[in-house]
Order: sequence, then structure tokens, then C-alpha cells
Amino acid sequence: REWCVALPKVELHAHLNGSVRDSTLLELAKQLGDKGVIAFDDVKDVIMKNGRSLLECFRLFDLYHKLTTDHDTVTRITREVVEDFATENVVYLEIRTTPKNNEAKGMTKRSYMNAVIKGLKTVEAVEVMLFDSNPLADKTPMSGLGGDTRKKKIYVRLLLSIDRRESTAAALDTVNLAMEMKDQGVIGIDLSGNPVVGEWETYLPALEHAKQLGIPITIHCGEVANRKEIQEVLDFCPQRLGHVCCLNGDEWKKLKSSMIPVEICLTSNVMTGGAPSLELHHFADLYNAKHPLSLCTDDSGLFSTSLSNEYYLVASTFGLSKAELFQLSQNAVEFVFAGDDVKISLRELFKRAEKELI
Ligand code: IMP
Repeated sequence: REWCVALPKVELHAHLNGSVRDSTLLELAKQLGDKGVIAFDDVKDVIMKNGRSLLECFRLFDLYHKLTTDHDTVTRITREVVEDFATENVVYLEIRTTPKNNEAKGMTKRSYMNAVIKGLKTVEAVEVMLFDSNPLADKTPMSGLGGDTRKKKIYVRLLLSIDRRESTAAALDTVNLAMEMKDQGVIGIDLSGNPVVGEWETYLPALEHAKQLGIPITIHCGEVANRKEIQEVLDFCPQRLGHVCCLNGDEWKKLKSSMIPVEICLTSNVMTGGAPSLELHHFADLYNAKHPLSLCTDDSGLFSTSLSNEYYLVASTFGLSKAELFQLSQNAVEFVFAGDDVKISLRELFKRAEKELI
């Protein structure tokens, strides 16, 4: 397990509000409970983590959002989530979050994102590198491994999520916001939310718009067996796909021939029933087929996991060696949405780490 913590890791699929620390959630719940805004007892459910259905997760997210969605709290959870990932040697992190309008709190999608970015800028425990060309970063190699006393560094980039509950106009607003904020660390678009809600046609204009603007896209695919949508998502050919749980034989073939990198979320899929068990998870098939993939947490808070734990689970379930785990982690560098400068720096970091870890 310690080795999996020491391994430098790349996280490509982490939802901001799903990654909040339990202690923070409880503290926020207590405050809002005291004010009578929520019933504190409801929050007990949020931290009881034994198997939860996908639908229950989305009910919990509504509760999370009640706790977390004001500007100061958004700033705080962003800061803490980055610190938590950095603590376990994640060296590159793409956080995805749904920009939210909330009139009652004077919140717009833009002000929500400003609060997120403020969170990134106020991280103190580690050095957050938010831009591709960081002259300082070029001079000092990334640290973080054994005995290095310099401050750890972590690259952080943001993906804006379109929630499946949103209208076409709201989805387009999110894509336009991503374009406006591309100099502030925003580098991609995600489609997520409750997979039994909404229609592909509703988001398609926004996704097409993003494609035309050259913004990389990742899409949650096959969380439920929606045959028509799985086809449409595969035909759309996004830069990456999340989950790919419920694909049938033909869809599976199509996915494999597409070589679209897949974000694999083991614990999340097993807990929500997208995969029957760890042993029977589709990771094994994709891994054996040498399909491009990366291990991810999805919602480390909601599912009580960490990226190190996901690597550990792969080792203990499928018997991968240290060298194979290292390779798996290193491969993920090639699927990041950040530019070539960042990739080059990450490749060098892995080369140095290999000497220490293997
Ligand atoms: P947020 O975007 O920062 O508010 O993070 C929470 C949101 O991410 C949820 O409300 C969902 O829309 C989305 N999300 C988190 N986990 C999943 C998942 O497993 N499938 C689909 N959407 C998800």
C-alpha cells in the first residue's frame, strides 16, 4: 500500500463535490443543521458508505450541494481536494465540476468558477501549477519523492461538467465559459450527471460547439444500458470516455477499435453496480487488450477511496507487478488534456521516479 502511495499518479476523473473530505462535510452539516437549514440526521447517510445504488448517489449529491454551494465553501473544498490528492503523490490532477447558477446565493456559473480558481490559488501545502508555461517549473524539477524537502508540486487543470439535467442553452453557457476561462486552467468539457435523466440530443449542440472550438471532451458512457446513447457517444468520438460499464459485444468491439482512452473507476463501479465485482470488472479485458486506460477515483469522498487505493486494488485483484503498476500510471500521462510542455515535464518526472521505485 505504501508503495502505491509513493507511486506518482495522474488523476483524470475526479468530481469536485464527490471528493470532499468527510470531516469537512460533517462540519458544514453541523453548521447548517444548527441554523435549521438542513436536518443534520440526513447527513449521516452521506458518510455511511456501504454499497449505494447509482440513484442513491445522485440523491446524496443534492444534499452535498446544499452543504457546499456558496462561494467561500466552494473555495475551501477546492483547496482541500487539491491538498488531499497531492498528499498521496498525485502529480497531475484534472478536477471536473459543474458550474452552478444559484440566484439565492448570488451565484452565477462564472462566479462559481471564480470561487474554484480562488481555491486553487490559496493552496499553501503544495505548489499548484495552473498554467502550461510556468518558467519556474521549467527550472526546478518536480519533486515529491523520498526525502525531498522542497515543496511538492502538482499540476491542476479544470474540466467544466455539463449536468444531464441541464437545458441546451445552459450546456452551451458552460462550453462558452470554458472557452472564456481557458487562460485560467480550464481545459476541457465533461458530460455527467444522473444517467437515467436527459437526452443526448439536448447536449449534442453544446458538445459539437466545444468540438468546433477545439476544446477536449470526456463523456460518461454506459453507466446504464442505454443502447442508443452508447452508440451515439461512440460515434461522437470524444477525446476520452468515463466508465464504459454496460457495453454489449458490438459496442465493446467498437470501443476497442476506436482506441479512445478510458477512465476506469473500479470502486465507484462496484459500489454502484456498474460492475458485478472487482474480479469481474471490465478493467481486466481492456488491460489485456492493451486498450489505453487510466485508473481514477470518480468520487473519492463519496466512495471512501483514494487513487493509491485504486492502484492497490488492481494489484491485489489482478496480480499486476510493481513494474506493471508503474507503467499503468505512467501511461496516463499520454491522455492528459494539458499541453505538450506539461506532458514533457511529467514524462521526465516518471523517468526519475522509475529509478527510485522499480
Ligand atoms: P460537482 O460537479 O463538483 O458538483 O460534482 C458532483 C456532480 O458530479 C454530481 O452532481 C454529478 O452530476 C456528477 N457525478 C459525480 N459522480 C458521478 C458518476 O458516477 N456518474 C455521473 N455523474 C457523476
